[in-house]
Amino acid sequence: MKKQELQELHNLRHSAAHLLAHALCELYPGTLLTLGPVTDDGFFYDFLPPQGTISETDLSVIEEKMREIAARNMPIVQKEVSKEEAREFYKDNPFKLELIDGIEGDTVGLSCQGDFCDLCRGGHVVSTGDIKHFKLLYVAGSYWRADKDKEALQRVYGTAFPTKQALDEYLKWREDALKYDHRRIGKELDLFSFQPEAVGAPFYHPKGKRLFNLLVDYTRRIMERDGWQEIATPVMLSEELWHRSGHYDHYRDNMYFCDVDEKKYAIKPMNCPGSTLVYSSRPRSYRELPLRLAEIGLLHRHELSGVLHGLLRVRAFTMDDGHIFCTPDQIEPEVLREIKTMIKTMCDLGFDKVSVALSTKPENAMGDDALWHKATDALASSLKKAGIEYTVQEGEGAFYGPKIEFLIQDSMGRVWQCGTIQIDFFMPENFGLEYVTSKGITARPVMIHRAMLGSFERFLAILLEHHKGRLPFWLAPVQARVLMITDEQRPYAQKVYEVLKGHGIRVEIDESSDPISGQIKAAQLQQIPWMLVVGKKEAANNTVTLRHRDGEQEFGLTIEQLVEKARQVTPPEMRHIG
Ligand SMILES: [Zn+2]
Ligand SMILES: [Zn+2]
Repeated sequence: MKKQELQELHNLRHSAAHLLAHALCELYPGTLLTLGPVTDDGFFYDFLPPQGTISETDLSVIEEKMREIAARNMPIVQKEVSKEEAREFYKDNPFKLELIDGIEGDTVGLSCQGDFCDLCRGGHVVSTGDIKHFKLLYVAGSYWRADKDKEALQRVYGTAFPTKQALDEYLKWREDALKYDHRRIGKELDLFSFQPEAVGAPFYHPKGKRLFNLLVDYTRRIMERDGWQEIATPVMLSEELWHRSGHYDHYRDNMYFCDVDEKKYAIKPMNCPGSTLVYSSRPRSYRELPLRLAEIGLLHRHELSGVLHGLLRVRAFTMDDGHIFCTPDQIEPEVLREIKTMIKTMCDLGFDKVSVALSTKPENAMGDDALWHKATDALASSLKKAGIEYTVQEGEGAFYGPKIEFLIQDSMGRVWQCGTIQIDFFMPENFGLEYVTSKGITARPVMIHRAMLGSFERFLAILLEHHKGRLPFWLAPVQARVLMITDEQRPYAQKVYEVLKGHGIRVEIDESSDPISGQIKAAQLQQIPWMLVVGKKEAANNTVTLRHRDGEQEFGLTIEQLVEKARQVTPPEMRHIG
């Protein structure tokens, strides 16, 4: 969107927020207005109703009042008044009085439409009649100044668009986003849950753990192919280590600490320092480089409870971390291979829209400019060699080095940052990492951090929402379910089940005595890719009818044909079938 269009959209939504405030004041005289900002996809207004609370059922009434006020087509007039005048106007509203006190200068802005005015810096549509395509979305609670020790307020969210079509498209998108929220899918498919006994840490149920393991299995096989070696390091390490790594200075607010036998420990928020200890456990020769050490490690980060969001934002999660220790000359080929692997991985997982960003030095960086330049140039030249277009995100790098980020676009148009490749000249320095060169001299290796999926938890959330719960065949926790038309086919159904299971296909039998239509419905609700229907004819011919999730059917398939079909839709790394 162009800058001009963005400004116009902002003005429209900002004016719609005033319109909402106006409607609230007319409907509920005595309402105390506070603030009503524009958001990424609409606007909200925080207020204190004169009595009781506003609920979802009141939204249609409020919206109706908004339409009525809009139809009066009153010009929206922006004026500057003295603070004195504004204080008199808001003498009964302590929130606005506090806001007025916080504004610099002797005057404040007021936006007026008819007899309604609101404290405002300006930026509106011309007249209330220009606000045509809007919708109130939901009600939530909030606190004055977002401080839970201050007054509890009510918040109404809404959105507005310049055209009816744009509004309808957005509402459809929102409906999908709510319908396919991973927390909802997780519950429907019985994959995971959250319990008050461990806030922000997922409990995996059998099918969820199976899905988790499949992703881990897949990344392991990819890493084995690329010459990685897997290690494991402790979850709890001495606090002193985190001082050395720099995490204590830059990250301690997000870490968990504990005391054991009068010694201070920290729960690891990252795998990197542990990995360097494995590297330095014995002398290293140039012949061992590049040394690729991978760790699929459980991490804990203390996120504020307000930002926790299903699997997308958790406090305990597992990461597919990898560290390459290499010489400066090896940076380019190493990064190049990882870039190619990343693109292939995302494609296997069903993401074909991948973009790449190069993040440069942030403000709170450690180390000097020359090192940063050297690292950034190496990443840029690898991307050029891979023939990949990328954008530059100035100042978005981690505190210890520049990085390449992989951004995937999901089926609902949202962009997620997943994989990263990051050069780090500093950790080898801090941990005194060394290797002996071909000339017998001691030198410092370069460390490259890389993650493919990042947090498995977060990736699972993205994956479930992207596929709307209909995971690709090779990732489905249950790939096939055998359905019997009558109980007479039980021995044959059992045979189909045994053979497929023997070939490593994740299969189960519908043991219910429901009619076939009920069995199909149940399998569809569980998003099982293959329904294998067996009746009299199938049992007699040693075949099955394959019914797909979308209802499409293939008749007379032999079990061998099924096994071959399964093989074909599974990435080579995961074909441990038959
Ligand atoms: Zn305004
Ligand atoms: Zn790392």
